[in-house]
Amino acid sequence: MRRPQRSSGERRSPGQAKAYPTSKRTGAGLLLALFATAAFAQVPTPESVLGHKPGDDFYLATYEDALGYFKKVAASSNRIKLVNVGKTTRGREWWIAFISDPANLAQLDHYKDVSRRLALSRGITDDQAHALARETKPIIHIDGGLHATEVANHQHTIQLGYDLVTSESAEVKAIRQNLIVELWFSINPDGQTAVAEWYRQNVGTPYEVSGMPELYQEYVGHDNNRDGYMLNMLESRVVTKATLDTQPLVFYTQHQSAPFPGRIYLPPFADPISANMHPLMVRWLNLIGMTIAEYLDDHGLPGSMHQETFDVWYPGYLDNIGNFRHTISFFTETALYQYATPHFYTLDEFPATRQGLGEEMLYSSPWKGGWWRLADACRYMYEADMAVLNLSTKYREQMTYNKYRAARDTIEKFQKDPPYAYQIPREQHDAPTAALLMEKLMLHGIEIHQAAKPDAWVILMDQPFAGLVKELFEPQVYPTLSQRPYDVTGWTLPYQMGVEAHAMTTPLSAQFRDSLRLIKDINGLAAPFQFGTNASFRAVNQILAAKGKVVAAGDDIAVSDIDKGKLEAILKENRLRAGGAAKEGAKAMKPLRIGLYRPWSASIDEGWTRWILEQYQFPFTNIYNDGIRAGHLREHYDTIVLPDMGAQQIMNGRRPGTVPERYAGGIGDEGAQELRDFVNDGGTLVTFNNASLFAVDQLKLPVTNALAGVPAAQFSCSGCLVTVHIEDAKSRITAGLLPDTIVMFEGGPAFDTKSDFKGAVLARYPKERSPLASGYLIGPEHLEGKAAALDVEFGKGHVILLGFKPQWRGQSHAAYKFFMNAFYGE
Ligand SMILES: [Zn+2]
Repeated sequence: MRRPQRSSGERRSPGQAKAYPTSKRTGAGLLLALFATAAFAQVPTPESVLGHKPGDDFYLATYEDALGYFKKVAASSNRIKLVNVGKTTRGREWWIAFISDPANLAQLDHYKDVSRRLALSRGITDDQAHALARETKPIIHIDGGLHATEVANHQHTIQLGYDLVTSESAEVKAIRQNLIVELWFSINPDGQTAVAEWYRQNVGTPYEVSGMPELYQEYVGHDNNRDGYMLNMLESRVVTKATLDTQPLVFYTQHQSAPFPGRIYLPPFADPISANMHPLMVRWLNLIGMTIAEYLDDHGLPGSMHQETFDVWYPGYLDNIGNFRHTISFFTETALYQYATPHFYTLDEFPATRQGLGEEMLYSSPWKGGWWRLADACRYMYEADMAVLNLSTKYREQMTYNKYRAARDTIEKFQKDPPYAYQIPREQHDAPTAALLMEKLMLHGIEIHQAAKPDAWVILMDQPFAGLVKELFEPQVYPTLSQRPYDVTGWTLPYQMGVEAHAMTTPLSAQFRDSLRLIKDINGLAAPFQFGTNASFRAVNQILAAKGKVVAAGDDIAVSDIDKGKLEAILKENRLRAGGAAKEGAKAMKPLRIGLYRPWSASIDEGWTRWILEQYQFPFTNIYNDGIRAGHLREHYDTIVLPDMGAQQIMNGRRPGTVPERYAGGIGDEGAQELRDFVNDGGTLVTFNNASLFAVDQLKLPVTNALAGVPAAQFSCSGCLVTVHIEDAKSRITAGLLPDTIVMFEGGPAFDTKSDFKGAVLARYPKERSPLASGYLIGPEHLEGKAAALDVEFGKGHVILLGFKPQWRGQSHAAYKFFMNAFYGE
């Protein structure tokens, strides 16, 4: 939520920020609390260490501040145990805390083991499950969020940790006795520190609430919560590994951007929901949401809101994916102004429909406006955590048993109903990418088998987390609803990755089952060294980096001038086998000079592209606005990539006066001229999705957008998978692509060419049939027969216009070749 500041005069006189928690206490409770403070005087308070109470106006603690504080707490109490879970993308040591009674912490390994056994359900009878549920101390995951600009997320966990360790209230004592709290101070430590440092540098200046010019997660910023199943980012893998280790009952993540004027957004969420979650997960989500709302009202915190805006269709949220492993996983969204700057809201800022402050079924205690401070947001989060812990204390036995039951039900369901298994041939168009998909599933605790005959991987569906496999493998059929989907509607991984996978819809024979061997990793795969295989691009880049020679003809690659052992190591690492001798007419592949445009508006699409280029070891340079304007681009680059963004963002960038001067502005007219000169002089410009319209406009290309001006009621797609047919199979850009490739269409253009068009239509949406492969698309006929990818000749160079997202969230491996081929020149 971003709302304009009212007036600068109000900013510095908000009065004393309300301290939290200030839950209503009886006189006796207050005495008890005072006594508790005295009894645990040796545990330092946050303010005694940080010099601030977390949530104070204009103050943000860095991750190092928070960790340093928790190390002091851990040194002075046996109710908390710090555990290192790994490293972040920027190399930080990452620690979490387990908080409980010392006797419970002493048996942490035992309780983790019980959680894991119940989560798998195998070999446990119903009676045994009930007994385990009665005796165990379940683990509850609470975290300080992964969206680092939503600052209350990670600020509030400091006070929460302190109180859970030291409080002697009956409520907290019961929590410590019955539960083990797994507290993640932040699930994006890099971002917490980056945001705190950015804010400290700007507080008190005209740029106090200015957005960061860099992504708070190194590559993907806000998309760090769109990586829940793909696990491309280190942080996603660290959280997933730890979560499989502790198998928490609940996974609760804090966010900030409640639908205004709500103060906190809670389950029940909006429809639609995934059909592959156990229904009990959804029931508990709703129960928890209502419990938080009731608890907040009871503690004098009005404005809980439900059901608007956020649905539970896309499974990629890190705080949703656990539902498929039967951990009740959810997020809440508390109101946010900007950073630690307070803001005063008057009723005239409210939507007209809510200015009357009327009570609604799912908004029965409307917020009336006034000051909103970081301390307020922290307090809402704090009490929401307490509500969840309180509820889990009361219902721990039933919730624990339900986790077992959901796993058992899933196994039984797929013993009775298809698909009974998925079979993935080891020999296929891009086998190393298929292997990558298998490895992703293993990271989620999915069991993979190897079949002797045929030579294939097999995913048996009678396993505890099979719902996740179905969710990722089946084509999505979106229900017809009036409201707009919150995120994309189709993501089928075998489609996106170009992986052949077959659903087995008849019961498996005992003989087939007996022939299967459970595998822990992928061994012995060696695919042809050809452009059909994405791993070949990495191998080529490694060979070129080692000064070897590579020549290519069509799909075939041949190598010379490299040490044999070195070549073998490169091929093995990439799961490839040696190619043949050079074919006649094969062309040498030059070392690459790639520029990737990077705006100061912190583009997530740029970040994903940068990450993929690094993964495939393409050497490249980020070019900022001044680099484009400085010109001489052709001297330095052969290919320049413009990731998905609007023409306005490229041309004008961020408005002067809203951000420190060096980050203001875009490439401007002079930069656009430099890009024109670059292509004219023989360079290749590659544009993703809407950046294509910038190129069409600025280079006056003989191309139009067939979707321009089509009303949303007639054509709309918030992200779905569509089929494109490769029209020019001889082009260097289409080498190795499947004849029918599935791509992510997300609000991009579709092209018509004008009569003076010179170049090639690389790929086209099918004619006379819907291109939709997975998800929701209104008005498919508007895409039918239109060009999806063009190679436009311009001067001595080329513009490759891609009307889709060829690198979407690091998932659409099948489409990577559309841009990777463009890097090797003619
Ligand atoms: Zn968020």
